[in-house]
Amino acid sequence: MVLIDRYVRPKSLEEAYELLTSVKGARIIGGFTFMRLGTVNIPLLIDLQDLGLDFIREGEDFIEIGATVKLGDVERSEVIQKHFDGFLSKTVKYIWSVQLRNIATVGGTVFARFGFSDFITSLLVLNTKVKLYRNGEMLLEDFLESRVSRDILVSLKIEKEERKAKFRFMRNSFYDFSILNVAVSAKVENGRLGGFRIAIGARPGIAKLARKAMEYLEKNGLSPETISKASDLSAEEMEFGTDIRGDAEYRKMICPVLVRRALNDILSESSGGNRS
Ligand SMILES: Cc1cc2nc3c(=O)[nH]c(=O)nc-3n(C[C@H](O)[C@H](O)[C@H](O)COP(=O)(O)OP(=O)(O)OC[C@H]3O[C@@H](n4cnc5c(N)ncnc54)[C@H](O)[C@@H]3O)c2cc1C
Repeated sequence: MVLIDRYVRPKSLEEAYELLTSVKGARIIGGFTFMRLGTVNIPLLIDLQDLGLDFIREGEDFIEIGATVKLGDVERSEVIQKHFDGFLSKTVKYIWSVQLRNIATVGGTVFARFGFSDFITSLLVLNTKVKLYRNGEMLLEDFLESRVSRDILVSLKIEKEERKAKFRFMRNSFYDFSILNVAVSAKVENGRLGGFRIAIGARPGIAKLARKAMEYLEKNGLSPETISKASDLSAEEMEFGTDIRGDAEYRKMICPVLVRRALNDILSESSGGNRS
């Protein structure tokens, strides 16, 4: 059970941050979907819903998604759907139920750095920055590896570029967390593929970029042979762990399969547009 002593709706980010850092144990609330699963006494719950962070904006270079945007809004947004061939909307659809997606927020998902997150793995293969109230802007991959904790996620900024992206996962049933999830992407420039990104999540640790495999593809281009090698490399360079859903050995085994399938999708869609 969660016990809440006080609930506030600050009128500015400054006020929210001041409360977060001055009251011991104070917490920001997103959709309260995950927080409510624990047993905890929260002295102060800070709700950001009056701060105008419920927006999805398209700028010249970036798409910006506010922290209080619901995952369901990401799924339905015309702005999100028209970029990357609707990649993010399609990924979000795999997250549990319509009801959950209509409550859970972007801020609560990304700031919490859930290891099982499908959304974070997908964001990692787009060039995504997090905008934090105190620590400013940083690349998502740096944020995930950082120790930033007492801060407020204000928004996500996703670079607008012509990029193909694919998501794959393995799970026991639809209503379960991924045992492993994988996202890959490639930038399309003058009909050629480059800027490869491969992210592996639910290892069960937080999603990480498979940098050696990415470098390998950057040097050698995308072909059936390089896909096979890059898929093996991505499994070799990752650490996998064991939890209730699967053991490390199983995760290591299925990783190259998921990466290979996702890269093959990109290659087949590109029909002759690869570098090799
Ligand atoms: C039953 C269930 C099934 C799920 N299945 C999946 C799944 O299959 N795949 C998947 O990817 N995810 C899944 N999730 C996770 C879900 O998608 C959300 O990521 C998660 O529930 C948190 O969403 P929330 O907005 O309610 O955050 P909350 O529970 O409100 O908060 C989570 C944490 O983030 C902090 N926080 C919230 N907003 C901010 C902010 N703006 N700045 C700083 N800190 C903040 C809170 O203090 C808290 O520590 C599931 C969740 C549940 C409950």
